[in-house]
Amino acid sequence: MGPVNVHLIARDPVTLVDTGPLSDEAWELLRAGLARRGLAPGDVRRVLLTHGHQDHFGLAARLARGGADLWGGVLDRSHFAMRRNTRMLLDAMTRHGFGAATRLAVTASTAGVDTYSEALQEWNGLHGGEVLPGDGYSVLVRSVPGHTPGSLTFEVPEAGILFTGDTVLRDITPNAIVDEDPLHPGETFRSVSRYFESLEALGAAAPGAELLTGHGRRIPDFASHREKLEGKYRLRVDQVVRTLAGGPRTVSEMVASMFPGVDAVHIYLAYSEALGFLMYLEDLGRVERIRGSRIDRFRLAA
Ligand SMILES: [Zn+2]
Repeated sequence: MGPVNVHLIARDPVTLVDTGPLSDEAWELLRAGLARRGLAPGDVRRVLLTHGHQDHFGLAARLARGGADLWGGVLDRSHFAMRRNTRMLLDAMTRHGFGAATRLAVTASTAGVDTYSEALQEWNGLHGGEVLPGDGYSVLVRSVPGHTPGSLTFEVPEAGILFTGDTVLRDITPNAIVDEDPLHPGETFRSVSRYFESLEALGAAAPGAELLTGHGRRIPDFASHREKLEGKYRLRVDQVVRTLAGGPRTVSEMVASMFPGVDAVHIYLAYSEALGFLMYLEDLGRVERIRGSRIDRFRLAA
């Protein structure tokens, strides 16, 4: 994904949007960036977290020890605590036809990202709909589940700016990741369906705002970008439907044909992408799940 963008609102209370990962290099970059504005890490009073991925909240605990208040989406609670339901993930992958070697690789790669952050102890939960005050500015919080269940955008209407985290990126098509659903423990988060609802809601909100994203360059406005993004997702839907036209498939078989040669590090994203889109098509009534005694397959609905 490349380095995380850390955004600064240099007015009282001095606010950061995301922090970068837990590393000396990222801390040095953050310190240097603040110094250019005549500020130090101890001046940061508020940290707004777009979502609970380690590269975005890695330095949050350290900034909190320097006196900053942390704010993040309540539905990413387990992400911020760096707790995951590994048992559920392994059981689901077995049911979706993955062998032991792949399951091991996924467990290792999901645990590997924990080195990029510290778990958060105390933070303030946001549900979306809140307005956080500032000196001459305000921050409108929006819930945009999809990339993660608790993803948020932060809008500063006085500046015509919307911070999008990883919900909208300029040069990368965001993944909607199939974690455990925090509202339905034990069930898989229907990430792609929720993500498309969030894009719909974003389209209606802040139409003229400039988008400052979690990785890469800014986006002048959402309307023009949205067409491009939705075009890419249509291609993905077509690919899933085409793959299923050959007959019922497990998610493992879908991954093998949609992402041939995918490496161990990226297999979790490939799994998320395939399962997320299958569940989305299931929600639309275009795909059905055939539940077997041990393994599930998906097929095109009659
Ligand atoms: Zn992310």
